[in-house]
Amino acid sequence: MPHHTPLIATIVAGLTVAFVLGALAQRLRVSPLVGYVLAGVVVGPFTPGYVADQALANELAEMGVILLMFGVGLHFSLKELLAVRAIAIPGALAQMVVATLLGIGLGYAMGWPPIASFVFGLALSVASTVVLLRALQERRILETDRGRIAVGWLIVEDLAMVLALVIIPALAGVLGPSASATGATGAMDTWLLPLGATIARVVAFVAFMLIIGRRVIPWILHYTAHTGSRELFRLAVFAIALGVAFGATLLFNVSFALGAFFAGMVLAESELSQRAAEETLPLRDAFAVLFFVSVGMLFNPAVILNDPWPLLATVAIIILGKSVAALTIVRLFRYDMRSALTIAASLAQIGEFSFILAALGVELGLLPAQGRDLILGGAIVSIMVNPVLFGAVTRPERRPKDVATAAAPPGDVLATTQGGHIIVVGYGRVGSVVTAGLERAGHPFLVLEVDEAGQRRAKEKGIEVLGGNAADPVFLALAGIARARRLVITIPDGFEAGGIVEQARNANPQIVIIARAHSDAEVEHLVRLGADETIMGEREIAHAMLTWLLPVKPPAPAQDGTTGDPARPVPSGQGTWSPTQR
Ligand code: AMP
Repeated sequence: MPHHTPLIATIVAGLTVAFVLGALAQRLRVSPLVGYVLAGVVVGPFTPGYVADQALANELAEMGVILLMFGVGLHFSLKELLAVRAIAIPGALAQMVVATLLGIGLGYAMGWPPIASFVFGLALSVASTVVLLRALQERRILETDRGRIAVGWLIVEDLAMVLALVIIPALAGVLGPSASATGATGAMDTWLLPLGATIARVVAFVAFMLIIGRRVIPWILHYTAHTGSRELFRLAVFAIALGVAFGATLLFNVSFALGAFFAGMVLAESELSQRAAEETLPLRDAFAVLFFVSVGMLFNPAVILNDPWPLLATVAIIILGKSVAALTIVRLFRYDMRSALTIAASLAQIGEFSFILAALGVELGLLPAQGRDLILGGAIVSIMVNPVLFGAVTRPERRPKDVATAAAPPGDVLATTQGGHIIVVGYGRVGSVVTAGLERAGHPFLVLEVDEAGQRRAKEKGIEVLGGNAADPVFLALAGIARARRLVITIPDGFEAGGIVEQARNANPQIVIIARAHSDAEVEHLVRLGADETIMGEREIAHAMLTWLLPVKPPAPAQDGTTGDPARPVPSGQGTWSPTQR
């Protein structure tokens, strides 16, 4: 093992073992997350064989958190954040109180001192950003109303943690083991001042981002976009995300995650945000995997044998206690059951913040090592169980068709009663044109669209819309796939479309499937899974360009030997091509 390159060794070992175990997990039909965490256990210090560098792994995991929060910020506008504050703030605080109290109860039962129990409870009360985002993204609910509530809720928790990380060292001074040695000073010095200073720093950072960042950051991105260099644009995005996160920690002492979130949010107002989000995706994925590996590395499997009951109680607090609290609160705010279940499930886990808190607690002598092991064990179990929990609660409700009243809140999915119809998946640039054509020709159809803005647009046109991911067989069933005549898949990702084709074929062997693709590989993939017709975007664009070009004869040489002026053909009169001219 090359010991002189610990960073390379950690990245390589982490990614390769995670890949092998992740692929295996996928094969066994469990979430690849489980594979990543187990990979961490394999390269961690508690199992024989190679041991990766824990400190480096933790730093790599922090990169994952930064990039993820940046991505969340990119999809989150201040307006939306403020729009969910009515539920996110009381919800997050109430849930944190409940979880902390349950943790204190367990600590008390274990005979720990009150401060240890408090730190333990607090660590159980905050959910992991990475886990939550993965779950929401995978199921495409990040950009739905309930997804926004969950993210807003998480940001409140994050802010609360920023404060907790300041108060706890101060509390250690008053109540901790070293208190008598230093001589406890008044509340003013020990925690009121640091707390006030922290709040002031958070406010200063937010103000700085809203006043200065908001002008400078979009300007930098626009400037780089106009250089035309893709590489430079990507670099600019990463430099902004990492630079702001690091600067926020260095100058304002707020968490990396919060800094990155604001960097993304400031950028979200620029029309380049979509591109910025796409450019950071691959790196975000890689570092998210390293995050899960680093979690696994912390875990000492011996805790399962040594402390089975306390571990079980910890897991119960995280998975049951927290979700019951969240569910109750969301329902009290009169949200529907589906939203309540989604929000509760997305927060029924703990992760990076809990590790930071546990490490701090042990370092200050406030938390026994047993407490840290329980927190880690609880995190691992809850992270592994989370995808299962999520899958169980995010099934759509089945209700009789009631589309005409349209009174149902967005997100409620009603089964269609149509038969012999055409199902159009996606209502974006392609789907909206396709449906307009079907409408004109008088074909019965409905739209299956995952994005709430898209659903609204289609509804405004009086189209029957089902909100949901077409890759989920339940939504295909609700769209009446078994009785439908045709399926038109207009989504841009041909590989994702492949999954939809496969499900649709299973449900209806007769249906005619047309899908959109952008490469030969996607075409092949779609056909192999059962698509009858594929339309390759780039080829159609080329054909349209040729249609525009070919009627024009090359300019004949003029009598005097010079070339004549090639008159510019303008088929549409305005120089823009529209599909109706075909
Ligand atoms: P465009 O590329 O502009 O035609 O937009 C594609 C549309 O498809 C967007 O509105 C997406 O929200 C939607 N879409 C993408 N994936 C899915 C999916 N799996 N199920 C339903 N709609 C989807």
